[in-house]
Parts: sequence; structure tokens; C-alpha cells
Amino acid sequence: MGGTIYSPPLIPLGVGSGFMDPLMGNWQNLESVSAERYTCGHCGAEVGPDKAYLKPATAGGPSANIFICPSCRRPTFIYESEDVQVPGRLVGRTISGITEPDVDALYSEARRCLASGAPSATVLVCRKLLMHLAVREGADQNKSFKHYAEYLAENSIVTKAMVGMVDHIKDQGNAENHELEVRSPEDAKTILKLVEFLLASIYELPGMVPQPELPIDESGDIDD
Ligand SMILES: [Zn+2]
Repeated sequence: MGGTIYSPPLIPLGVGSGFMDPLMGNWQNLESVSAERYTCGHCGAEVGPDKAYLKPATAGGPSANIFICPSCRRPTFIYESEDVQVPGRLVGRTISGITEPDVDALYSEARRCLASGAPSATVLVCRKLLMHLAVREGADQNKSFKHYAEYLAENSIVTKAMVGMVDHIKDQGNAENHELEVRSPEDAKTILKLVEFLLASIYELPGMVPQPELPIDESGDIDD
């Protein structure tokens, strides 16, 4: 006799960086606790739920709690004595206006990789995204990562203030993908920050500026 075998969803939870639908229905038998503030690793909301599933402290170990996010209603395990939160805090900001679903999905995946304690995977995904964005902004295809990093800096696609960051990432990124590289969370945060900035400047900011109106000639017709 077998019950339902859980299989992971084909589409990762919260794929894309937009709004996440809350899980419907109520969690049962939650207990009241003092509110715990954390950033939800599922939806990115700053929350402070005051209900949880508890593992009280015992002689054998400290307490641990499972909190339910009031925003997306998904669970987070918090083990304060070891400073553990699973899933971890989402790094990077949600960016609106991304018109390419693959770019949106990969940015979301990079954020989740870091939240899950996988910085090397974050760096690989971010490097792919940076290469894609450089090509989107006019760079030639099939070049090295170094070429694309230089393209972003030399063509003012990143601001002056970020050129140093690009140089840092470029110098780290000389090894090609067939060479093994283990990356630190700091490396991953740096490159994710750069990707976040580029996505905002390419997709989000233009949508916040009113589009120029078409000129109207004396007869009232719209020139094109
Ligand atoms: Zn949430």
C-alpha cells in the first residue's frame, strides 16, 4: 500500500520574480509564540508571524520552530541557535517589467540558489544572465565571459560606479565552465547585485518614464 508519493513540481515554486499566489487553506494546530521577524525565502516578504509549530528546548538541544509566512502561507524552518533559516532569505530585489520569461525565471532561480546555500550555482546562472544581457544590448554572440563583462563596462551599460564591480567579477570569471570553481556567498551576492542592477536599468526603469508622444502636424494627423 502506498500513499501519494510526493514529487517536486516541474516548475519551481515561485518561478519568475512577480507576485506569488498564497497557498490556500489553513495550517492546523499552530501554537502562539512571540513574533519572529524574517524575510520569507519563498516570496521575499518581510514578515513577523506569531504562530508556529514548536520543538521546545530540551536538555538535549535548543528550540526550533516552523513558521508560516502570513503573505504566501508557506513554511520556514528557523533554528536560532545555529542561525539557520530554511529556505534562506531571498537576496536581490524583485524586478518588474522583465519581458523575457527565461530571463525572469533565471533571475528568480539565481536568488533561490543563494537562499538555498548554493553560491557556486548562483554565480554560474548570473554569468549566463550577464552574457545574455550583453548580447541583448548589442554585443556579438559566442564570445567569452570576459568579453561580455568588458562590453558592459565599455559601452556604459553599467554606470561608472559599477565598473569596479564588473572588473572584480571579470577577473574571477576567467576560468571557463569546464574548470571546477567553488564560490563564496560573497562572490554570489556581488554578481547577483550586478544582475539586479542591470535588469532594473534595462527592463524596469524605462517602464517608469512616460513614453514620448508622437508629433502631431497642423492638420491634426499623427506623423510617423
Ligand atoms: Zn512568504
